[in-house]
Amino acid sequence: MSEGRPIQIIKSAGDDFELNEDVLEKILSNDDISDHSIVVISVAGAFRKGKSFLLGFFIRFLEAMYVKKDASNWIGNRNDEAPLEGFSWTNGQERETTGIWMWSEIFQGEIKGEKIAIVLLDTQGVFDNKTSTKNCSLIFGLSTLLSSVQIYNLSGHIQEDDIQHLELFTSYGKLALDDTGNKPFQQLLFLIRDWSYPYNHEYGLVGGNRMITKYLQTSEHQNEELKSIREHLQECFTKIDCFLMPHPGLKVLNNKNFDGQLKDISDDFLNNLDSLARMILSPDRLIIKEVNGEKVSVKELFQFMRIYLETLKG
Ligand code: GDP
Repeated sequence: MSEGRPIQIIKSAGDDFELNEDVLEKILSNDDISDHSIVVISVAGAFRKGKSFLLGFFIRFLEAMYVKKDASNWIGNRNDEAPLEGFSWTNGQERETTGIWMWSEIFQGEIKGEKIAIVLLDTQGVFDNKTSTKNCSLIFGLSTLLSSVQIYNLSGHIQEDDIQHLELFTSYGKLALDDTGNKPFQQLLFLIRDWSYPYNHEYGLVGGNRMITKYLQTSEHQNEELKSIREHLQECFTKIDCFLMPHPGLKVLNNKNFDGQLKDISDDFLNNLDSLARMILSPDRLIIKEVNGEKVSVKELFQFMRIYLETLKG
């Protein structure tokens, strides 16, 4: 059981942004980990779309893999009646604001003998009017700059709007660029929840990548705007993937008191969740955060956070 909790590290207050520096410094300047290379996994998207639900499972995986050192049955017994530990997703009320949350427990692992620290972020907000679009772009841009994997959590399917929002915040990528020609962002993973067309594209990474490759293709006959957005995205990210998630089952939706008991979640969902968690969080799959091709340590990430935020605030 993780002893962590979600901490809001960046708050949006009207037009302004605030970094919760004291708490963040306390966590990130811990001598045991401050020189470790850092892996930052962020899940970003609108609220009430299952981000914290997913993050709760990621925490469960990280506990099993990096604390108990055995992830063979990390999801647990499928008849299990224990509630899901982790990001609390029932108090949606409090979290329905734009901002970035961090799980206070930082997991430690090793990649080929190199010590690493793994951080989880939850980035949320909705692009529903002019002010919120500006705020959200900034918050999403910031979390994309800070993460090695940005998981863009979408419900149902990808819409052109979602791609346009991405385009807006990729403009912040230039903050991380020098003239070395490196791409400003690392991995972008579109995570499509409640995918309902497994007969067109099967669940998981293979179906998702087939779908996204087609979606991001450009052609001569395409409208100039659609084309340039697509080209820009490919220039900004080192890697773009897509994962198609099945619906978790009606019990997850219909039961107001649902607390993540495995027996209430569909097998299809749990099987794909297992693949997703292993694909992102297994030791041989972790991606270390880099800025301009250089690995970033825990304490350096904290410095970057301050610099980026100050620059963005102008
Ligand atoms: P967040 O605000 O994005 O963090 O969303 P939550 O994780 O709090 O989830 C919002 C609601 O959606 C909860 O009632 C969850 O039980 C439910 N939920 C979680 N995952 C999924 C999913 O994949 N599909 C659907 N339809 N609902 C989900």
